[in-house]
Amino acid sequence: MGHLLEVKDLEVKFALRFGDLTAINRVNFTLDKGERLGIVGESGAGKSVTGFAIINLISKPGYISNGNIVFDGTELSQLSNEEMRNIRGNRISMIFQDPMMTLNPVLSIGTQMTESLMTHMDISRKQAEETALEKLKKVYISSPEKRLKQYPHEFSGGMRQRIVIAIALLTNPAIIIADEPTTALDVTIQAEIMELLLELCKSENMGLILITHDLGVVSQVTQKIAVMYAGKIVESGSTSEIVNNPRHPYTKGLIKALPGVLKPGERLYQIPGTMPNLTSIPPGCAFHPRCEFRLDICDKKEPGLMNIKDKHQQAACHLLNKECSKNNIIV
Ligand code: SF4
Ligand code: MG
Repeated sequence: MGHLLEVKDLEVKFALRFGDLTAINRVNFTLDKGERLGIVGESGAGKSVTGFAIINLISKPGYISNGNIVFDGTELSQLSNEEMRNIRGNRISMIFQDPMMTLNPVLSIGTQMTESLMTHMDISRKQAEETALEKLKKVYISSPEKRLKQYPHEFSGGMRQRIVIAIALLTNPAIIIADEPTTALDVTIQAEIMELLLELCKSENMGLILITHDLGVVSQVTQKIAVMYAGKIVESGSTSEIVNNPRHPYTKGLIKALPGVLKPGERLYQIPGTMPNLTSIPPGCAFHPRCEFRLDICDKKEPGLMNIKDKHQQAACHLLNKECSKNNIIV
């Protein structure tokens, strides 16, 4: 059986006055039913653009310049706007960092939920209200009957994000794409929301694409991880492979930068430098100006993704060439 979602050689460009800029460069990944994938990297890596590309929401001057996005056997990039609307918010839902990107401040929660349902399904208002109540209960909103009449400003940030999750669940989607869903919230609330998302994905057998800069969060929620840098996937594999045995220096840096137990006077590690701007991606390996392991070849030749033997893991780094035997298999 094929994958629920297959992203093949995805490329997104931005048409600018001085020429086209490549924001996403030959990105590949798959997601099976009920599977949870984390897309990780610093801001500007291309994570959100990847999420938007899947649901065909790249806005001008951006456009998908190459690749395939196959969802449940259908090529999404070929669909009309109307057909795509039918998939977006229905079979594939998206949750953003700021709940107010989804919620309309001047409509009650009940109106927003029932109208969203009624645009996607041929059901009565009464049925829509029942479904809305059921979903609010799923995200642990207490007194949901009363809550349906309230407006977004009457809820705390954490509750608003719960409501957004309830809205995302309305149509029983096959996949939820969550883009930094907890970044705007207090730390304690962040953990609660992530736990809720994880619980719902498991109980509803929903696929999840979790987009975040926080490798700590994805390692607790997802089964596999793709690490992005300057528009490309530089490492991917199962969550335990990536966390316990990272092969790319950038992934190693992200792990080293995770808050752990610090000795007195010790400072949290930070990868030196910053993610390059799309207009000035360094030649060779885009990470080379920041890489403490770089070799002579690194600013001249771009490393391709290599499969690591007996693992699901792939990484794009010249260091692996040293260990590389025939067929790009690292022993
Ligand atoms: Fe570092 Fe070179 Fe590997 Fe890039 S290819 S991550 S610069 S060692
Ligand atoms: Mg982003």
